[in-house]
Amino acid sequence: MFTLYLQQAASNYGIALTQEQLEAFNRYYQLLVEWNEKMNLTAITEPQEVAVKHIIDSLSCYHADFFPPKARIVDVGTGAGFPGIPLKIYRPDLQLTLVDSLNKRLTFLQCVITELGLKDVTVVHARAEEGARKKELREKYDVALSRAVARLNVLSELCLPFVAVGGCFIALKGAQYEEEANEARQAISLLGGKLIKTQPVKLPGLDDKRAVLYIQKEKSTPGTYPRKPGTPEKKPL
Ligand code: SAM
Repeated sequence: MFTLYLQQAASNYGIALTQEQLEAFNRYYQLLVEWNEKMNLTAITEPQEVAVKHIIDSLSCYHADFFPPKARIVDVGTGAGFPGIPLKIYRPDLQLTLVDSLNKRLTFLQCVITELGLKDVTVVHARAEEGARKKELREKYDVALSRAVARLNVLSELCLPFVAVGGCFIALKGAQYEEEANEARQAISLLGGKLIKTQPVKLPGLDDKRAVLYIQKEKSTPGTYPRKPGTPEKKPL
């Protein structure tokens, strides 16, 4: 049933999924529902809702221009794997790093990676403020992605330090995206970024307002950012 809903939603949205991808998404859905009984992963479990609000929403940020072949991408505050895992299923060549501060969610993700046989996926247990200070992660990614983690002024400080100059920070945002973009203008500039594209998103069967924001990394992020854990949220730039 899930596969059917997903296939319909993808085709309404203009995305073609192969049989192999549909099977991988179906297994991911099964694992999500199974593990959700043991730990809090998501409030959304109905097949149609997961298909649209998790899978298609995650894929809504995909734009070939921003994802070169074998692009290195980092999903910051990935939770149960959104949007990183759907993008990896859609584009298996991507080199994906999943970052979250909650270790039990990473245990779930490790199981998904093994069960789906996903290659080139790394999980990192860290707060973004600490992860982005590690030499092997700082400014090493073509794309940093994030959904439902913080307002854009805070999120920019958590994500832009991971992005290499010339790469992109992609934020999946809800109804307040215009207000958030205005509020984050100074933070984005201080961190070396520039908002270059705002793509409104209409998900199949939903009328809510959402958009994907594309922020190009133009300059290296000053070494003072990100500030120590908790500070970006307490004192947004
Ligand atoms: N991105 C997923 C989604 O859209 O379904 C999860 C969203 S969930 C509401 C927020 C996630 O961000 C949680 O898993 C939380 O542990 C993680 N998180 C929040 N602040 C973080 C930080 N500073 N560093 C790393 N992870 C963080």
